[in-house]
Amino acid sequence: MESPVKKNQEYVVDIVGMGSEGQGIGKLDDFTVFVLGAITGETVKVKMLKVKKNFAYGKIVDIINKSDFRVKPPCPVAGRCGGCSLQHMTYEAQLSFKTKRVKDCIERIGRLKCVDVLPTIGMDKPFHYRNKAQFPVSVYNGRPVIGFYAKRSHNVVECDNCLLQHSVNAEIVRVFKSFLTENNISIYDEKTHKGIVRHIVTRVGFVTGEVMVCVVINGEKLPHVEMLVEELIKIEGMTGIVININREKTNVILGKKTKTVWGKGYIEDYIGKIKFNISPLSFFQVNPAQTRVLYEKAVELAKLSGNENVLDIYCGIGTISIFMAQKAKSVLGVEIVDEAIEDAKKNAAENSVENVKFRLGAAEDIIPILHNENFSPDVVVVDPPRKGCDEKVLNTIAEMRPQKIVYISCEPATLARDLKFLTENGFSVNTVQPVDQFANTVSIEVVVLLTCEKSE
Ligand code: SAH
Repeated sequence: MESPVKKNQEYVVDIVGMGSEGQGIGKLDDFTVFVLGAITGETVKVKMLKVKKNFAYGKIVDIINKSDFRVKPPCPVAGRCGGCSLQHMTYEAQLSFKTKRVKDCIERIGRLKCVDVLPTIGMDKPFHYRNKAQFPVSVYNGRPVIGFYAKRSHNVVECDNCLLQHSVNAEIVRVFKSFLTENNISIYDEKTHKGIVRHIVTRVGFVTGEVMVCVVINGEKLPHVEMLVEELIKIEGMTGIVININREKTNVILGKKTKTVWGKGYIEDYIGKIKFNISPLSFFQVNPAQTRVLYEKAVELAKLSGNENVLDIYCGIGTISIFMAQKAKSVLGVEIVDEAIEDAKKNAAENSVENVKFRLGAAEDIIPILHNENFSPDVVVVDPPRKGCDEKVLNTIAEMRPQKIVYISCEPATLARDLKFLTENGFSVNTVQPVDQFANTVSIEVVVLLTCEKSE
């Protein structure tokens, strides 16, 4: 069957829903049209850009019927940059979009019909909330360009003052641009694998005010690094400047090796009363205010009485482990990144938390070993990366039969897949609570409480 639309032609489309990337979804009879920047309930005139057999991508040429939830994005590059796909919606509408997406995933992928998804807990201020920036560096017309990748591409959209980042980043970007130009430093080219500077990664402690800059390079040394240091240390809060070496042909931003060139190689920050050391290679939640809300929710859902042994799988630098340890008998954290485990141990010691231990290794290897050693946790916390939990991990948790599982997820699709497995293996979903960590973007964070159906 031929598609009912033609490339470059214009059509009037009613937007009936929104996809996972925030694009509007319209229907022309049974034919689906994805329209970037369109909102559910709108009628838009669309020019078809790419036409496939069963669907097409189009762009808005006119909004015929505008949503009440549409706002003018405050960032001038919001439409082009791959970060803020929801900035054209009110924050309330963004939160509803996220709640709905979690519910859709749980119903469609998880096949769970009667699960109530609580309204997404939003943040007080949906801008300037991030404590970590990762800027790709590129070249345009012979001059360095620093910003973010455009949607589905590695073209860098210049952005000197990202509204999601801490304002110190604008200053760092300015210093970098002059450094790169004045010293004629080569910029990495993904196609040829030549050139030095790949990314600039920054971290800011929102409570301590500490700032760390990490320059990712395709080489062993950054030429004239002393000139860069001289300028960067004038920035208020600068605590550490590090070089990360990444010589691989890869999309992964950071390489395995880091060298401190000035100051210390990590920053300190607080979540609530707990102080954390954060190294460049360690995972740390990007939104400190909402992380506190998320962790407190996780602790609340676990309803710890002080007698529980808790297993925290994918524990990173021990953030949730240390939060839980204050209310549990013991916590064991498991994590694959060596540096993160070192940070986790330091964090526990510096906060005088003694009832927590950490084990380095892949969860899929360590959890079955723990089970063989008859380790039997009362509460299991999992906070996996986007791809969700490994099957071996889920199988072993099901065999361990903890009373509760607290599942923290940054990807509703894999969360739903894993909930399907767990509900088919003796657990039921008790509470699903999204907590927004990423205003203006489509990313979603959810905490779920599962309980064991019958204890043997
Ligand atoms: N719970 C932590 C970290 C969550 S992010 C926090 O809230 O800060 C997910 C973590 O899982 C990362 O630290 C990552 O390094 C780790 N990880 C990824 N794959 C893993 C695996 N196979 N086994 C154990 N940990 C893994």
